[in-house]
Amino acid sequence: MELFGTYDVVVTGAGITGVVAAIREAREGAKTLLLEASGVLGGLVTGGRLTKPTGLINGGVFHELIQRCAGYKGADNRTRESYWGAYTGAFDAEVMQRVVIEAIEEAGVEVLLRAQVVQTMKEGGHLRGLQIQTKSGSKLVLAKVFIDASGDGDVAALAGVQFMLGRKTDGLTQPITSYFRVLNVDIPRLVEDCREHRDDMWELVVPETGGSRNEDYVMVFFATGFTKRIEQAKNEGFPWIVPKDHMTLKAGLIPGELNINVTRFHGNGLDDRTLSKAEIEIRKQAYCAFDFLKQYVKGFENAIFLEVAPKLGIRETRRIQGHYVLTEADVRGEARFEDAIGLCNSPVDIHEPGGERAIMESVGSGYGIPYRCLVPEGVRGLLVAGRCISVDEVAYGSTRNVPACAMTGEAAAFAAAYCSKHGVDPLQVDVNEVQKSLRDGGVNLGIPGEVISR
Ligand SMILES: Cc1cc2nc3c(=O)[nH]c(=O)nc-3n(C[C@H](O)[C@H](O)[C@H](O)COP(=O)(O)OP(=O)(O)OC[C@H]3O[C@@H](n4cnc5c(N)ncnc54)[C@H](O)[C@@H]3O)c2cc1C
Repeated sequence: MELFGTYDVVVTGAGITGVVAAIREAREGAKTLLLEASGVLGGLVTGGRLTKPTGLINGGVFHELIQRCAGYKGADNRTRESYWGAYTGAFDAEVMQRVVIEAIEEAGVEVLLRAQVVQTMKEGGHLRGLQIQTKSGSKLVLAKVFIDASGDGDVAALAGVQFMLGRKTDGLTQPITSYFRVLNVDIPRLVEDCREHRDDMWELVVPETGGSRNEDYVMVFFATGFTKRIEQAKNEGFPWIVPKDHMTLKAGLIPGELNINVTRFHGNGLDDRTLSKAEIEIRKQAYCAFDFLKQYVKGFENAIFLEVAPKLGIRETRRIQGHYVLTEADVRGEARFEDAIGLCNSPVDIHEPGGERAIMESVGSGYGIPYRCLVPEGVRGLLVAGRCISVDEVAYGSTRNVPACAMTGEAAAFAAAYCSKHGVDPLQVDVNEVQKSLRDGGVNLGIPGEVISR
C-alpha cells in the first residue's frame, strides 16, 4: 500500500474536538496530520449548523476561536444563564468555519479532507498506522501517536478497543437530529406570539431592551416549547410526522434567520441503512415543521426555507472503554479527580432514546473529566477525545456537548505531544505536565480544592 506520510501525531476527525486537538498539537511543535472523512472542517459545529456551546467554554483553543468569531462580529461571546446553568455565547457556523481555517493554517497543521480511516495497523498491542480511503485509493499513514476524534470512535473500534453503545437496558441511543434554517422571519411578531402563549414555552430568551426590528434579536432570541400547539395542530388533522413534541428556535446572525432544532430520527448512527434513511426522513420532517410554523405561529408568514444542515446530526454512537468510566454519580455529584483535565458544567442533556422528550438537568458547578477517560484499554499509542470518551450513558448526556469535546481535544493534544517528545505511551504520560500546560492556557481542571477562575 502506498505510504501517504509519517507524522508525530495523527488526529482522526475534524469536528471541534479534532480541530482543537490538531491546532494545539501543531503549536506544541509536533508534525501533525488532521484526517477528515468529509469535506468540512468543524464537524457538527460548522456542518451541523450548531449555534451555541451548551456550557461554559473552559479556556484553551476553543475559547480563542470564539473570541476570533466575535472579532468578525460572528459570535456573541457573553456568558448567559439558563435554568440548567451558565453557558458561553452563540456563534455563526460559517464564521466559525472561517476562523477554524485561519487557525489551522497559522498553526501549520496538515489537513487531508475526504480521507476516511477504514483500518488500523498494529504491532503487538501498539497502534502504528491507519489505512485511509481517498479518491485515489487506499493509503497508509504512520505516526508515533494517534488521537481518535472521530466522534464515533472509529479508530479505537477498528483497533479492537471495547466500547459501549446505547442504554444498558435496551441498547437504544439518543436520536439523530439535523438543524434546519429559515430566513425572513418577522422575529418581533414571533416574540409577541411566544408571549401570548407563555404557558406553552419552556424557555424564552429575548434581549433586555426588546426591539421592533429583526436586527435587535440577532444571536440572542431563543425559544423552546410549542408542545400544546403541536398537539392542537395534530388534533386538527395537521400531518405532524416528527416524533418529538417540542422545538427550539434560535436567532442566527442574519436578521430574520432562525436555526430550528426539531427533527428526530431514531436508529443506530453506525448502521448504513439507518444513516441513509435518516438523511431523507429528516428533510421530510423539516419541511413538515416549516409548514406547521407557517400555519400556526405568527411571524412566519413570509418565511423562506433556506437549508437543512449539510452534516447529519449524529448525537450518540460508541463510548470507548477507557481506564476510567465517568459515571452518572460523578457528573451529578460534582466529582473532582486528581488527574482531571477539565471542569465541565454542561447539563445532563438527553434526548429520549426511542421517545419524544428531552431533559436538561443542571450539574451545578461542574465535575472534572479524568485523563484516564481519554486512554483506551487494550491498545497503546492511542488517545480518544470528544464524544467517544469513556463515560456511562448518563454522563454522556453532559460530555457529548461542545465544551467537553473541546476540553478533551486540548488535553489529548498535550498528552500526545508529551508521548511524541518522550517516546512513551499515553498511559505513561506525566499528567501533572498536561495539567500545567492546560492551566497555563486558562483551563479550570476540575481537581480537588481548585480555585475556579472565570
Ligand atoms: C442536532 C444536534 C444539536 C446539538 N446541539 C448542541 C448544542 O446546542 N450545544 C452543544 O454544546 N452541543 C450540541 N450538540 C452536541 C455536539 O454538537 C457534538 O457532540 C460535538 O460537536 C461533537 O464534536 P466531535 O468533534 O467529537 O464530533 P463531530 O463534530 O461529529 O466530528 C467528528 C468528525 O470525524 C469525522 N469522521 C468520523 N469517522 C471518521 C473516519 N473513520 N475517518 C475520518 N474522519 C471521520 C466526521 O466526518 C466528523 O467531521 C448537538 C448535537 C446534535 C446532533
